Amino acid sequence: MNEPKNPSVIAREALKRLAAGHVPPTPANYQACYNEIAKLPNAAPFPEQPLRQIALALTTRDKEQAKVLERLDQAIGRRSWHGIQEALVGFYNAGNGGGARPPVDEPALSPEFSVRLAHFVESVLPALGDENPQVAEMLSTLLGALREVPVDVPKLQAMLASFNRQIQFAAEEQVEIKGSLLKLLHLIIENIGELSLDDSWLKGQIDGLLTVVAPPLTLRHLDEMERRLRDVMEKQSEAKHRSLEAQEEMRQMLSAFIERLATMNESSAVFQGKIEQSAREIEQVKRIEDLAPLLKDVIGATRSMAEETAISRQQLQSLQEKVQATEAELVQLHLELDSASALARHDPLTDALNRKGLDEALAREIAGMRRKDAPLSVCLLDIDNFKKLNDRLGHDVGDSALIHLANVARANMRPTDTLARYGGEEFVILMPDTGLDDGVDAMVRLQRELTKAFFLSGKEKILITFSAGVAQLTAEESGADAIRRADRAMYLAKRAGKNRVMGG
Ligand code: GH3
Ligand code: MG
Ligand code: MG
Repeated sequence: MNEPKNPSVIAREALKRLAAGHVPPTPANYQACYNEIAKLPNAAPFPEQPLRQIALALTTRDKEQAKVLERLDQAIGRRSWHGIQEALVGFYNAGNGGGARPPVDEPALSPEFSVRLAHFVESVLPALGDENPQVAEMLSTLLGALREVPVDVPKLQAMLASFNRQIQFAAEEQVEIKGSLLKLLHLIIENIGELSLDDSWLKGQIDGLLTVVAPPLTLRHLDEMERRLRDVMEKQSEAKHRSLEAQEEMRQMLSAFIERLATMNESSAVFQGKIEQSAREIEQVKRIEDLAPLLKDVIGATRSMAEETAISRQQLQSLQEKVQATEAELVQLHLELDSASALARHDPLTDALNRKGLDEALAREIAGMRRKDAPLSVCLLDIDNFKKLNDRLGHDVGDSALIHLANVARANMRPTDTLARYGGEEFVILMPDTGLDDGVDAMVRLQRELTKAFFLSGKEKILITFSAGVAQLTAEESGADAIRRADRAMYLAKRAGKNRVMGG
């Protein structure tokens, strides 16, 4: 049997044969000689040069075609006929707006039609709201393209295709905003119906609503307002209940008081009668020894009157104390009502959201993430060596440090981010539309800002640092699970020496 030859043996033999025959050692001659010795079919060489010339001759009309041309270039480089075929078909299709249709003349838009279309876009624009600058920019680009003479139809088509999804989101958002607004109005109206305690309630709520309906009208803003209103309402109905009870108590005490006064009057009338009777009898007494029993009666009546008065005084005093206590409770209730909206979903020290507020915000952001198919990251940060700071400078300075951190965080976060106080010196930041790497970068930036923005305790400059863990929510993950992952990453950041950010 004829063993197949080793390629290096064939190569050597091919070179020898070329030299012996005085054949010029060009790649093509070498290939032919090699194939002959190896008993391979003598295939035609790959026509790279002519193919590249064809590629150069193709002119591109848009980015899509330019990309396909790049693929053609790479396929020629790989000598892949399959790749070349695919790229050429792709180039043709891209030139025809994506479909494998036979080439037809581009339809032209009549100027009248494009003007009408531009009017239509302009009249639809306000319905999409003006709080999304991206959409506004897209629409103005679209209007620009419609006003070009002549209109570049393929460009317009490409634009419409890419704007479609964004505009759909903006429209959906408008629908949601309207829904939320209506819900808010319902809440207010319901609440006005319940209102019976104090007019300042009404004023406060109307003020709040006015603030929230001022532009920009964002879903997040409305959501926050709804949360605050719900708090006020819950607190108010509870307070109203307690206040009615207190009023009833007052009413009962008042009737007891009146009854008491009536008995006092009654007993003093009896006393009066007795005294007058005794006076008349005393006038008629002829003998001194007859006076003694009368005096005894008078003394008895006076004593019992004095006793009754003492009892009444005591009872009135205790009634008065009760009234004062009830009044104090009512004042307290009103004070509670005043701060109710700020307390229930917000941490009173830092004004960040509290756990309840965080849960609601998290649910909302997760829904947004799924709806928009956009990333969402959560960060858990914990101040470094906070106990030492408290021990050295006191709890009040510790409190100021927490307020300071919250202020610096708010000043450096994006408006769409949410800050919540998770526990003592731990905060959670929700970052919508942010992937893991960007989330970590944002927290590193916050660390840097915090280093620049120290705060003063007396004359001492206090520098606070934190360790943080960031986690990007996976598609099916719950908010609590993501926070747990961020917590683990934060713990690793502490173990690695603190004052750092780790991705989870
Ligand atoms: P580490 O760097 O490992 O996080 O150490 P640390 O000292 O910051 O952490 P540790 O959990 O040991 O201590 C947290 C301290 O935070 C203990 C607690 O007294 C204090 N703290 C919690 N809430 C408040 C608050 O509202 N105000 C003040 N001033 N201190 C608080
Ligand atoms: Mg801690
Ligand atoms: Mg700590």
